[in-house]
Amino acid sequence: MKLIFITGSLSGIGKGTIAASIATILKICGFNTTIAKVDPYINLDAGLMNPHEHGEVYVLDQIWDFRPARDLSYRICEVDQDFGTYERFLHQNLHPSHNITSGQVYLSVILRERSGKYLGRTVQLIPHVTEEIKRRILEIASKHEVTIVEIGGTVGDYEASVFLEAIRQLKYELPPKAVMIVHIVWVPFLKNTGEFKTKPAQHSFRLLLESGLTCDAIVARVDENNLPLEAKRKLSLYSNVPINGVFVAPNVAIIYELIFTLMQQKIHEYIFNILGLDKRSLDTELINKWSSFIHALKSPREVVNIALVGKYTLTKDTYISILEALRHASAYYQVRPEIAIIDSEAIEREGIQHLQAYDAIILTPGFGKRGSEGMIRAAYYALRTGTPFLGICFGAQLATAAFARYIVGLERANSTEIDPETPYPVVDILPEQRSVTNLGGTMRLGGIEIKIIENTKLYELYGSNKTRERFRHRYHIVWDFVKIFANHGYIVSAIDAEGNIAAFELKDHQFYIGVQYHPEYSSRPLKPHPLFVGLIQAALKRRSRADGSHSEQNKF
Ligand code: GLN
Repeated sequence: MKLIFITGSLSGIGKGTIAASIATILKICGFNTTIAKVDPYINLDAGLMNPHEHGEVYVLDQIWDFRPARDLSYRICEVDQDFGTYERFLHQNLHPSHNITSGQVYLSVILRERSGKYLGRTVQLIPHVTEEIKRRILEIASKHEVTIVEIGGTVGDYEASVFLEAIRQLKYELPPKAVMIVHIVWVPFLKNTGEFKTKPAQHSFRLLLESGLTCDAIVARVDENNLPLEAKRKLSLYSNVPINGVFVAPNVAIIYELIFTLMQQKIHEYIFNILGLDKRSLDTELINKWSSFIHALKSPREVVNIALVGKYTLTKDTYISILEALRHASAYYQVRPEIAIIDSEAIEREGIQHLQAYDAIILTPGFGKRGSEGMIRAAYYALRTGTPFLGICFGAQLATAAFARYIVGLERANSTEIDPETPYPVVDILPEQRSVTNLGGTMRLGGIEIKIIENTKLYELYGSNKTRERFRHRYHIVWDFVKIFANHGYIVSAIDAEGNIAAFELKDHQFYIGVQYHPEYSSRPLKPHPLFVGLIQAALKRRSRADGSHSEQNKF
């Protein structure tokens, strides 16, 4: 059992990507490796966080029945977006208990106190909270050869200090060579003096020392291609890490390149040495798959223009899994996706002319009224013009409203989430959701089996009549309406295990699919999701057919 903790001196420098790259390298080296993440915030999970502030909420396949006390349980399935990165690098489904938050830890300790488990004692950060943190980490680590644990936030954060203390204790308690710390630092290049500055890194080494920790390896994030030996020497001097333990992570065009960048610097051999691991033979097949994937993205034959229409457009992180899924499918066709994120409120203000330049449109997941009319207009635009279209969750629901309004003639048709007074509630709350009062972890979540109807486009794409996909919703498309829509070309193409509509498509459109589930969460670089592969293929087809003018005939 080996543990590698990843700490950082600054947020937003790609700690998650570096953690995932190291995990992938160890997997390539033949080790059974997993990743966990500690998030020092008090939330129990990422489910109720604002995507503008915190980025995408990632949904795992499994639901974890978290039981902080005997008679209390919470469903945890919604995790930090870094888990998307981990799953995409590792091609492995991770368990929700791998996302350890302060909220979970404190809740367990407080309720344990109430139950009398600490009877007679004063319950304190040390040892009670640290014990719970260590217990959670060791539970994961005991099932794997190597466990990488990313510590969210930065080493100076108040909130993170108790986790650093837990690491200090683990390092002391576990046998020698069981634990190592890889510290990620940012080394800025100052243009006006022409030098790399290691001072911020030096300060962070000192902060680690204040917690009784020294790191065993350093990964320096630089905006340039390399870091001069002089700067590496300085990092080494101030951290007690030998110079061959200082690695460089430059900016890369495609994040997966980092696997190779770090491997070329022999980070794995250094890690083997620190952790006392014996070298195994490399999985050359996996190396080849990764390098052809990267090659395909770096030498595209063509460009496809894709519009992502949504309501959370302030940061790219909100749609990170969709952007990634588009990249995976684009590598499959060796094309470059030019993706524009379009604010649906801008469509409400300025009209749909923004959409004319695109070969495909994705209507994104979301919640609430703001921007929903713009999304409905975009759905209708794709329908009318024959533009390949994929509506995901909210996107599929609003595309159904657009179809009801403009094709079936049901004026003001809508989801009751947006318009509770709509005369045609084509999307309505799931019956079991009516009684829900607490918002955290109570949506319909996680992986659910799906039956795909034969003789549909969806069946053609999946090549199978069953699959499993991840869900995150409270509302659903209503069967009673959709039965009438069949006469107008709206076909239900998948049904989930509980009999709900999981997908629909339009008969007379080359590619118009709406899915209640989230295919973006299960797309992997080396195993792109069939829906995104289909969308890119349809976009390419439309591009070549229209020869730039997009003038094809459409029934609608
Ligand atoms: N707001 C919608 C629902 O709750 C869609 C959710 C989503 O897009 N993930 O059903």
